[in-house]
Amino acid sequence: MAKCAMGKMRRKGLAIMAAQTVATSVDLGPATGLSCRECGTRFELGPIFACVECFGPLEVAYDLPIGTGSAEDVEALRAAIEAGPDNIWRYAPLLPVPADVASKPSLNPGFTKLVDAQNLAKELGVTGKLYVKDDSGNPTHSFKDRVVAIAVEAARAFGFTTLSCSSTGNLAGAVGAAAARAGFRSCVFIPHDLEQGKVVMAGVYGGDLVGIEGNYDDVNRFCSELIGDPLGEGWGFVNVNLRPYYGEGSKTLAYEICEQLGWQLPDQIVIPIASGSQLTKIDKGLQELIKLGLVEDKPYKIFGAQAEGCSPVSTAFKAGHDVVRPQKPNTIAKSLAIGNPADGPYVLDIARRTGGYVEDVTDEQVVEAIKTLAQTEGIFAETAGGVTVGVTRKLIENGQLDPALTTVVLNTGDGLKTLEAVAADSGQTATIRPSLDAFRAAGLA
Ligand SMILES: *Cc1c(COP(=O)(O)O)cnc(C)c1O
Repeated sequence: MAKCAMGKMRRKGLAIMAAQTVATSVDLGPATGLSCRECGTRFELGPIFACVECFGPLEVAYDLPIGTGSAEDVEALRAAIEAGPDNIWRYAPLLPVPADVASKPSLNPGFTKLVDAQNLAKELGVTGKLYVKDDSGNPTHSFKDRVVAIAVEAARAFGFTTLSCSSTGNLAGAVGAAAARAGFRSCVFIPHDLEQGKVVMAGVYGGDLVGIEGNYDDVNRFCSELIGDPLGEGWGFVNVNLRPYYGEGSKTLAYEICEQLGWQLPDQIVIPIASGSQLTKIDKGLQELIKLGLVEDKPYKIFGAQAEGCSPVSTAFKAGHDVVRPQKPNTIAKSLAIGNPADGPYVLDIARRTGGYVEDVTDEQVVEAIKTLAQTEGIFAETAGGVTVGVTRKLIENGQLDPALTTVVLNTGDGLKTLEAVAADSGQTATIRPSLDAFRAAGLA
């Protein structure tokens, strides 16, 4: 199943394992090691991401009080979380971070608003509860601050001095800002043709920002080569050699949603897909909460959302395939424009296992949905949020999403970073001289 087009990157992983020394005693809290998602082989904690046995992706393994907790233990954990800071560090006991993480320099992302979206519900024909989990409220205005915050702790533990990444835009800004705050050098890589808001936001924090002449998949391939080369020595690539840790940051979205719902699972969640990491880790987070006894076990459905112009996962889902055929992206939803998504096959598994669906919408529908969300709830989403809201509408129209249940739709980024998407027809209603006559003539009173 994992024999997706990741083979090349995984083979590269082997070279990296040989080149970098694996730390033997690092303190990443409850994390006890890494395990292969495919064959289960265990490794010590280190800056590695691919299994030497089968090239499968590595995941953080934990010593969590799963399945053994008495009712008192569950309540003690719940109370400890609720007494924690208003950011992702309230979940430190469930993350690969040291226990004193909250005292270290960090942007402290998370605990963003879960907006009760009654106006949007009416617009979409939802009769149950509809919430927007609005991650534009994070420090650099996208969900990426969550994953970067965890990767920074791993980078500290492994002694890296430079933070890097391959990015579709938001990650570059999140890494630049976190590096500035935490005292790392940063050098990040993006496709050269991103939105101005993303480029400026990635550059302003003072690290190096390199535009690569190619698409994200070219950028990612370049970074994999850089890691295996002496040029990249001492560099922590948050989404490549620190990927197992980075991914865990997305679990906090699952934790927050359930805690904000009063420690309950939602019935349905609509999640955007770029590499698919976020979607798979939200599912992992929900499963952990069930096993820990922090939420009552019940069925939930996970829905994936893509833009039609970069829809390798929805295409595979609809065709009934379990491998994902790479595409060449062409969409305004640039933050989701990964044509060869690393976690694509796992997304297919999760959507099918939970009874969800993976759908896509056109760029026109993305723009429409951005405006709908802004005009119903006062939330200005970037194109990725247009993708999830647009897909939610389509899923309801096609009967895949039940409008009578509790649904959470993710907005993962801020519309100020993708002004181009709506600028053409969201400007001034009228431009007039400063006189009452001119205003009367405009007919707006
Ligand atoms: C990166 C990103 C995602 C999802 O990324 P995955 O690679 O699927 O984890 C979603 N929305 C925005 C705005 C992003 O920047």
